[in-house]
Amino acid sequence: MTASEELFERACRVIPGGVSNPAATCYEKACTPIYMESAFGSRIRSADGQEFVDYIMSFGSLLFGHAHPQIVAAITGAIGLGVSFGAPCRQEVELAEQLCRVVPSLDMVRMLSSGTEAAASAVRLARACTGRDKLIKFHGGYHGFSDMFMVACSCGGPSNRSVPGSRGVPQATAGNTLLGQYNDLASVETILKRNNEDVAAIIVEPVATSMGVVPPASGFLEGLRKLCDDNGTVLIFDETVTAFRLGLTGGQGCYGVRPDLIIIGKILSGGLPFGAYGGRADLMRELGPQGKLYQGGSTAGNPVVMAAGLAVLKMAEQADYEALEKLTSRLVTGLEEIFAAKDCPVRINQVGSMFTIFFSAQDVCDLAAVQKVDLLRYAEFCRKMRAAGFNFPLTGQSVCMTSFGHRLEDIDRTLEAAAAIEL
Ligand code: PMP
Repeated sequence: MTASEELFERACRVIPGGVSNPAATCYEKACTPIYMESAFGSRIRSADGQEFVDYIMSFGSLLFGHAHPQIVAAITGAIGLGVSFGAPCRQEVELAEQLCRVVPSLDMVRMLSSGTEAAASAVRLARACTGRDKLIKFHGGYHGFSDMFMVACSCGGPSNRSVPGSRGVPQATAGNTLLGQYNDLASVETILKRNNEDVAAIIVEPVATSMGVVPPASGFLEGLRKLCDDNGTVLIFDETVTAFRLGLTGGQGCYGVRPDLIIIGKILSGGLPFGAYGGRADLMRELGPQGKLYQGGSTAGNPVVMAAGLAVLKMAEQADYEALEKLTSRLVTGLEEIFAAKDCPVRINQVGSMFTIFFSAQDVCDLAAVQKVDLLRYAEFCRKMRAAGFNFPLTGQSVCMTSFGHRLEDIDRTLEAAAAIEL
């Protein structure tokens, strides 16, 4: 029995399904996860003593690689001065000031401890400000595990209507979540027409990542902006995955569309528990204690997390995002050539340092195409690459991430391994 197998067996006795996060194992049937013990840069080492080049990077949190010395120094320096104060701290103010300086749509920002909290809070704010209850999200979109988002999300099984995608979600809550099709503006227009003046917010990832990487079709984000303006609806960009990964100004900067509210996540904290939301000051002023909307958190604005955030932001301001995109393109192009030589139909969608390998003979521009990809072939690719020392996401609808910790040598070794496996 390997160390991972032994740990998983123990875990299954005391942790439901053996994992704290279902995404750490295969969704469909629990498979033994690899337990990790240490990591540095692009490399991660398992409890079984195997080293991998990592393309999961803590679900995209680690833009600068594992255990970056500058981030580690910021964290350890802050911890020595107190882990949590139960009071506001200087770093929280500095981070908020810097975020509002760097991100165009941010007038004001609130810190929290997860993307789940931030997304739920942003929708509550939109509801408070509009006095409306309904929400539009997209099929296949994930915005954390709050009740209102557990409808047709990537983890909750497929559904075509506003029905709960998880047990325990009240129908009354799910019924307020209306479903658009990503990259299909007409689907959103129809919903807005049918629910005249009842839709508080549209929440969308500027680049879809919850179903694998699917970039926005030309005019899609601009169209959402206009529909929101015409209908008095709040446009929320969930940039949990894209903020700071797609450059300093995230998806909104890449595509030149300004949302009313955005959600920022774990990248900013270098992988520590974190989420934030912010945007237009007239909306954000509704929050208590100034306004009448309650949202709080004992660990919100935590000094250690804020110190990590300041370190990450400083590094992001100096980072060469173009070089990282180029490195990622080398891997993507190399993989495309390798799969072509194996007669294996593939489409690899890449945006910046994120990509998804879709085993598909047709372009993947929407959820319908994502649902047709060959997941079994991906699973085989993933299993064989893992055996060779390369840690790819477990499902074929997830995002592979590179980081500033990845080197040319990692990419070239990955390509050599991919060329050597049989598919
Ligand atoms: N939004 C998106 C787009 C996500 O991918 C995730 C999860 N990574 C979340 C929200 C929830 O974030 P968290 O896991 O920090 O609660």
